[in-house]
Amino acid sequence: MIVGIDLGTTNSLVAYFTEEGPKIIPNRLGKNITPSVVSVDEEGNVYVGETARERMSLYPDSVAMTFKRSMGTDRDYVLSGKKFKAEELSAMVLRALKEDAESYLGEEVTEAVISVPAYFDDKRRKATKRAGELAGLKVERMISEPTAAAVAYGLYDKTKDTRFLVFDLGGGTFDVSILELYHNILEVRAVAGDNYLGGEDFTQVMEKLFLQKAKLQLQNLSEKEQVRLRRNAEKAKCTISEKEKVTISLLCKEETKEAEITYKEYADACEDLLMKIREPVKKSLADAGLKLGDIDEILLIGGATRLGVVRDFLIHLFRKFPDTTLNPDETVALGAAIQAAMKERREEVKEVILTDVCSFTLGTEVVVEYEEGKFEDGRFCPIIERNTVIPASHTERLYTVRDNQEKVRVRVLQGESRFAKNNLYLGEMEIKVPKAPKGQESIDVTYTYDINSLLEVEVKVVSTGVTQKMIIKGQDNQMTDEEIAKRMEELAYLKIQPRDYEENRLVLLRAERMYEESLGERRQKLDRYITAFEAALKRGEHDEIRELREELNDFLEEEDEY
Ligand code: AMP
Repeated sequence: MIVGIDLGTTNSLVAYFTEEGPKIIPNRLGKNITPSVVSVDEEGNVYVGETARERMSLYPDSVAMTFKRSMGTDRDYVLSGKKFKAEELSAMVLRALKEDAESYLGEEVTEAVISVPAYFDDKRRKATKRAGELAGLKVERMISEPTAAAVAYGLYDKTKDTRFLVFDLGGGTFDVSILELYHNILEVRAVAGDNYLGGEDFTQVMEKLFLQKAKLQLQNLSEKEQVRLRRNAEKAKCTISEKEKVTISLLCKEETKEAEITYKEYADACEDLLMKIREPVKKSLADAGLKLGDIDEILLIGGATRLGVVRDFLIHLFRKFPDTTLNPDETVALGAAIQAAMKERREEVKEVILTDVCSFTLGTEVVVEYEEGKFEDGRFCPIIERNTVIPASHTERLYTVRDNQEKVRVRVLQGESRFAKNNLYLGEMEIKVPKAPKGQESIDVTYTYDINSLLEVEVKVVSTGVTQKMIIKGQDNQMTDEEIAKRMEELAYLKIQPRDYEENRLVLLRAERMYEESLGERRQKLDRYITAFEAALKRGEHDEIRELREELNDFLEEEDEY
């Protein structure tokens, strides 16, 4: 089974294709969304998702989040004293999703189509692929997030040529993509964005308003108080769109501080952020050579597009209502699942040509005559340039450089350097040419590159028509099986928790956190609940555990207000 995965900065989702269309697979807690948060404790136990996020306020040094931003970099995340790269943390998220999908579907999941931001360069795409491999998933195809959104909206099925703007405001990143559906080809025309703008910034605005009103200074709050404030501000942000005003409260040095914030105050305070949104929209339109009025449809993805202030701003900017029929959190995963079905060649979906951009240059080595009779070898000749829309096919004609030259060697290279030696070698091929004075014989070198990272190299001798072909697969330098096995072994001390206990663990963590945040009677009540629940866990009676868990959960739901 191939699934579609949206590996997001804040949240991740997995979906599969059914006869009724794509569907999100709920995780072990029965929820569609798994926070992209990982925690590793002192004993090497791994927690993923909500449980990991819940550990943030109790054990901040054991938790990592928003690591997608560092995909493909050397940055180390230290969790309980152990080091991890972003791709390894992502692998833990992917592994949890894979397990959830397998238990839900009752069959093995071996492969995934994973979505990546359109601006992700080759290094970050490779890292994403490696994350998949470390999680035991084959990742042959990646889909760019805006394309996945467009596919989920069924835009590929339209017959009329249409221009779309996909507006993606996630937790920490903002992307605008312009796509064009033209003669059944869906093409990404331009992408622009801001890597440092997202829903989190809107949470910070809420935080600042609270601090101002409650007359508090962020630097005077303890680390745990700051985490609590962040959580309460986040909640307030998510509810303010439906209300006139929200109240935020914070237990701070044994005293509860409270402040009321109105929608108008919040919207005014967000003004600077909204101005920042304008720039990438303008840039993407300019790059695509379009005006605001040329856009036929606006699609919203990313959790932060739920914000009332953002929607109001967009309606004002485009003078048009965005299409919001799909849940903005789920759109990308649904699109990835459709792409997975296309890959499986499922009959229900017709294969459409999805394009992407090639994030690096593909070329060959040549000898350059820089002055009459003077040659320099080892130079790089680009054939398919970076940012070319793929699938793409380009041909370059190359001439013999010596008299009576008998053969020409075509080295296939990837990279941006003017010099061949600095670029990545992918393979080579030799072809015979008839003897002739230099420059009289020539070959046509054609590179055809598709969205599955397959590069076909065709060399044709112009005078004779003799043709030779070669296919280079996955020049994204997959880790070898040995390398993967080695790293998996190194990570083997990590103990993935049995799925069944997840709910119990989550409830206990929430209760412990609330215990720390409470005083007096509430604290005592919580203590009684926790003690009874822990005793039931020790006894191991399933019915009793479930009953007490539900009781404790109800109590937490009632009390966990801000
Ligand atoms: P994503 O990275 O797409 O999962 O988006 C996560 C961001 O969306 C976070 O900053 C959330 O606070 C934000 N978000 C989620 N739900 C809402 C909501 N109902 N209203 C406002 N923001 C939301």
